[in-house]
Amino acid sequence: MADKKPKREESKGDSSKVTFNIDKAKNFPDWYDRAIEVAQMVDTRYPLKGMNAWMPYGFKALKLMMRQMEMLLDAKDHHEVYFPMLVPESIFGKESEFLKGFSGESFVVTHAGKNPLTEKLYIRPTSETVMYSMVREWIRSFADLPLKLYQTVNVFRYETRMTRPMLRVREVVKFKEAHTFHATSKDADSQIKEGIEIYSEFFDMLMIPYLVVKTLPWDTFAGAEYNFDFMSVIPDGKGIELASVINLGTKFAKAYDLKYETEKGDHEYVHQTCYGISERELGVVMAIHGDNKGLILPPLIAPIQIVIVPIYFAGREDPVRKMCNEVLGKLTKLGFRVEFDDSGKTPGEKYYKWEARGVPVRIEIGPRDVEAGKAVSVRRDTGAKASVPVAELEKSIRLAFEEINKTLKENGQRYFSARVLHFATTKEVKEKYTERLGMLGLPWCGDQGCAKKLEKDIDIPTIGFKPYEGKGQKCASCGKTAGVTELFFGRTY
Ligand SMILES: [Zn+2]
Repeated sequence: MADKKPKREESKGDSSKVTFNIDKAKNFPDWYDRAIEVAQMVDTRYPLKGMNAWMPYGFKALKLMMRQMEMLLDAKDHHEVYFPMLVPESIFGKESEFLKGFSGESFVVTHAGKNPLTEKLYIRPTSETVMYSMVREWIRSFADLPLKLYQTVNVFRYETRMTRPMLRVREVVKFKEAHTFHATSKDADSQIKEGIEIYSEFFDMLMIPYLVVKTLPWDTFAGAEYNFDFMSVIPDGKGIELASVINLGTKFAKAYDLKYETEKGDHEYVHQTCYGISERELGVVMAIHGDNKGLILPPLIAPIQIVIVPIYFAGREDPVRKMCNEVLGKLTKLGFRVEFDDSGKTPGEKYYKWEARGVPVRIEIGPRDVEAGKAVSVRRDTGAKASVPVAELEKSIRLAFEEINKTLKENGQRYFSARVLHFATTKEVKEKYTERLGMLGLPWCGDQGCAKKLEKDIDIPTIGFKPYEGKGQKCASCGKTAGVTELFFGRTY
């Protein structure tokens, strides 16, 4: 599985001018690879396919993003834990559907040095099996429920399709998986709602547009009762699963003998749910918000929120440098993540560099600004400039952050509504869905035969379904009006 990777055009330490001229709309794959490289998010030169080295800037962005999710989970009484990475085959294989779903894409350890192991060890593709085999020791009675846990771990899947940094990898970095345990199926259903709320809030914070669909029963995750997927679209037109919120019912509980004692003293199986996000979310943030100058990072997760660029004139450097340092100190003290770029590059080169890295706000300070007690603040998203008295910088930056968020959200929504189309008939799909990009919805009665027929008719795979807001739709396959929901189709990552 060691695949040769092309060498980069320039070395990492190169601090010369950064040029970025790939049209994102016309050539998203190249844009994405180049954007990640120029911004120094991950280094893809590691000689294993789908496994990348995270660079300081990228890893910080990832950590900042994950911190938001931790806060959301903690606020809803989830507790952080850690479970081992290796799973003995005897445990891995206990839930047969899970085994069927994951054994083909799991890495397996068979040797320690030269000695064959007595039992195969699976490297976790996800942690249901290892966790549930242990949590059965932790749950005794109804008083121990609900139990809501999460862990942040790397998981490994032998991905055979083309990999792409963050979006599809073999080592998934910082997979944040929550697993919950409940007394009744009703409690598990409510937990699914909470999981959907948590994720909605998270994706809203990142300004990622999404659609929540229920997965078709015949496509549901191995070992699950039902699940909901958060779906978005990346700029090459493919749908992408952001996250799944899964109701496992009692399937795993039965396989792992996870029981609790009820108030009456009976023993019942626990009901479970799980949900997870990963580095993929950061890939989607970059893919959706970036432009032809490079990344645009939301202030919330930008490793550097503000960059200060001095505009020096020969012989008048000192007052400018002094004021830049004062502004740096002041903004840092206020809790902003600030960088003062006092390198020997030209201002233009610095602009390119920090724009490519997606820094939300740039502050420029020249001799005339020093005299006027002002600074020029420039927004990354629109390029809008404002001359601001230094005393009012904080207010101005906070406002700029809000406005950047607003623009990213609006742009994201506009982008998304152009890529998620709604039709009434397959005829309409054939006439209007000519570019075949993004996702589309058709009315559907709930019958598997109808779904399969529609899928075949328009030649696009199904994704999931959700209720219509209004009524009066007719199944695009059989014409029935009862129980009609919107069935979504699209090519996905
Ligand atoms: Zn039908």
